[in-house]
Amino acid sequence: MKYVYFFGAKKAEGDGTMKELLGGKGAGLAEMTRIGLPVPAGFTISTECCDYYLKHDRKYPKALAAEVKKNLSRLEKVTNKKLGDAKDPLLVSVRSGSARSMPGMMETILNLGLNPKSVEALARNTKNDRFAWDAYRRFVQMYSTVVIGLAKEELEEKLRGMKSRRRVKDDTQVPAEGWRELVGEYKQYFQSKTGKDFPDDPEEQLWGAIGAVFGSWMAEKAATYRRVERITGLLGTAVNVVQMVFGNTGENSGTGVCFTRDPSTGEKSFYGDFLVNAQGEDVVAGIRTPMHLSEMAARMPGVYKQLEKVRVLLEKHYRDMQDMEFTVEEGKLYMLQTRVGKRTPAATFKMAVDMAKEGLISKEEAIERIKPEDIDRLFFPIVDPSTSKSDLAKRKFTSGMNAVPGAAVGKAVFSAEEAEEMASHGEKVILVRRETSPEDVGGMFVAQGILTATGGKTSHAAVVARGWGKCCIVGAEHLDIDYGLKVARSNGRTVHQGDWITLDGNDGIVYEGQVKLSAPELPDAFTTLMNWADGVRKIGVRTNADTPYDAKKAREMGAEGIGLVRTEHMFFKDFDYPEMSVERQLAIQEMIIADTPEARRKALGKLLPYQRRDFTGIFKAMDGLPVTIRLIDPPLHEFAPHELEQQRELADKIGVDVEVVIRRVAQLHEANPMLGHRGCRLAITYPEILEMQVRAIMEAAVECKKNGVKVLPEIMIPLTMDRKELQILTDATNRVAQDVIRESKVKVEYMVGTMIEVPRAALLADEIAEVAEFFSFGTNDLTQMGMGLSRDDAGRFLPEYVDEKKAAIFSEDPFQSLDVKGVGMLTRWGIERGRSVRPKLKIGICGEHGGDAPSVKFCHQVGMDYVSASPFRVPVARLAAAQAVIEERAAKKKKK
Ligand code: PEP
Ligand code: MG
Repeated sequence: MKYVYFFGAKKAEGDGTMKELLGGKGAGLAEMTRIGLPVPAGFTISTECCDYYLKHDRKYPKALAAEVKKNLSRLEKVTNKKLGDAKDPLLVSVRSGSARSMPGMMETILNLGLNPKSVEALARNTKNDRFAWDAYRRFVQMYSTVVIGLAKEELEEKLRGMKSRRRVKDDTQVPAEGWRELVGEYKQYFQSKTGKDFPDDPEEQLWGAIGAVFGSWMAEKAATYRRVERITGLLGTAVNVVQMVFGNTGENSGTGVCFTRDPSTGEKSFYGDFLVNAQGEDVVAGIRTPMHLSEMAARMPGVYKQLEKVRVLLEKHYRDMQDMEFTVEEGKLYMLQTRVGKRTPAATFKMAVDMAKEGLISKEEAIERIKPEDIDRLFFPIVDPSTSKSDLAKRKFTSGMNAVPGAAVGKAVFSAEEAEEMASHGEKVILVRRETSPEDVGGMFVAQGILTATGGKTSHAAVVARGWGKCCIVGAEHLDIDYGLKVARSNGRTVHQGDWITLDGNDGIVYEGQVKLSAPELPDAFTTLMNWADGVRKIGVRTNADTPYDAKKAREMGAEGIGLVRTEHMFFKDFDYPEMSVERQLAIQEMIIADTPEARRKALGKLLPYQRRDFTGIFKAMDGLPVTIRLIDPPLHEFAPHELEQQRELADKIGVDVEVVIRRVAQLHEANPMLGHRGCRLAITYPEILEMQVRAIMEAAVECKKNGVKVLPEIMIPLTMDRKELQILTDATNRVAQDVIRESKVKVEYMVGTMIEVPRAALLADEIAEVAEFFSFGTNDLTQMGMGLSRDDAGRFLPEYVDEKKAAIFSEDPFQSLDVKGVGMLTRWGIERGRSVRPKLKIGICGEHGGDAPSVKFCHQVGMDYVSASPFRVPVARLAAAQAVIEERAAKKKKK
């Protein structure tokens, strides 16, 4: 077996594909050498050797000594230097490098090969005493701590002592003599601790370093890191022995970091920083201000030209923007590392589109390079990146689940009514509630952001806020809200009503005061790339929208129809004429209090014109695109007043005794409202609600058609569990629809279908499909009922189920990303059974999962016709749908 792989003089035994065997760094150095870049020469000892070493009680395979010897001679030949030589010494670095990046977890030893003779040679050759002795003391320090395991603190203490004796503050002020003195002290300390002299023999040094790097694979910090990051199946670390190059030998040397394109804008311009007479650490530490590459071009034109060539070559080779580290030693350029560079979301789009246009990558690859977070981050304001971390830490008030990304600043308000009141005076508010209900939509609508103490990602607050693209944090468990005193407490801090707070919906953190926000700009490349995605995807993308405003917004985002109008969201809020909201509320509450069908009809009669206007607005906004309207879904208690004061007010307004209201509200109380009298169960017992809603839909459709607006209403029954149940409601729907058509003499096409939200409906989907003309999977409820997890309360313990450091039962919150294994099985089954009786059955999804990229890919795989997502998540769905096609094609190709 071969354990050592050489690279140098334009040849390499390894290559970029050998990450498992050579680690990321070793494979990268080999690849850069192969393509002719100036890389310091060296060799990599493979991860297989590490595996052997650790399995054989820290002994090396027999063949290794000879292989290392051979490769060391080769390295000496290529560099024309000798390890530890008294005339022209070769110095090497010995670094770890595994197949997966584990930053800072394993060991590195630099400047290996120095001893009393070679340090003098280094000083002579570089004409820099100070540099040579500084290098030596660094080596002795690293070797003593990393290889031998001596205490770092004690060595640091000696360093501080030397500096204070010499009355210098910074390392840069220490003269050669100081470093020489320190080397002596270190060696003495070494002797006293180990009973041996510090090794001068470079080969002994090398073997010590190799063992230390291999051993560091099993060190506790590295093992913990792998466990936390779930890095498994690797053999170990490789060891890279590489010729040292120095950027700190004088004015003709330096070190830098550069990017092949601008990582913030995506512009195709060479971007980077350079520090003269410095080592890599100095750039990262940020103590000195580096110069821009253009300045370096003026100072070292030859080197710059060479670097520019490397830039072109590497980008072409890796077909992506590269982040490169380099060192210039006495006017000679060395490339030390290259990797795919991180970038802003705007730059991600620009680079992907530009690279596709340049022919560097295909359009499909450009689409594949965008992550859902890149899109999210394009639209929502964010906490200004320049805000200092310590300032944020000081302001932290509480934290919760990041239900809707973005950021918002406003004054804390604890009731929806007051939020509306304050907003009407032009104040910016954040609505802070234990939880929200449909009664709160007015306050939620005017708020900059929403914060709730309970609830998960599909709680009422999260769903509504997502629809508006409004920053929302839910399940802030430590938040203790006192509505009476109008204060919220958390972590020993108190926020009063009217105090400024800032929500960071990306991290789920709430800060006290006004933190500066910044709004990202939408790049042109975004539109181009989304058009490409539309050309590729097969599955349709609709939106969940409840108002004409949302519908318009969603169309701008590329929605091709509405997959869910939640009609009850309009009961409490008139989005066109807010001042008329009270009348709606009164009508719905009167309907609830009514105890005869006649009284209910009367109240519903008042609601009908409002609903008709809402639907007309939505049809117009969608102008001929399909619109799925769902009949009333939540349990009625959500619309009833619960506080005595409000109950009195209602009793007064509708002219009944307050006792009647109290009794009725008590009657509506349910122990398990999510499993209670809701969904189509309401229409079975109160058919007049269905009649009113269907009439409003059909009359709106007729009106639109008369005005030349094309309409395609799809009337949807929620929470169906049985064929007969659906049949009764479908018959009732058709009766009303036909009545309206007959009365108006306008023929409107419409469909009647159902949501699949109850596991029984999914299981008996063939029976359901005999009646339903379309299915829409309501995966919020299907998850709730399929997994037995309450949408409103699971937020209290679900984080523990998902947290890698805790139970880690699921990798994602199942209310956010579809549980493909379980709930997905119900979905698959439902689709197959449904289409077995109605092959052309139209099928979509309108649960929150319709805007989650992995779930959208699943929907594509199981053959849905469309997904429906909140307006701001429509682009994510379009992208994921295209990626699903591309990934499917790639998988097919691989199979062949
Ligand atoms: C669902 O259950 O997935 C759904 C879309 O309905 P709602 O969230 O309104 O219950
Ligand atoms: Mg539902």
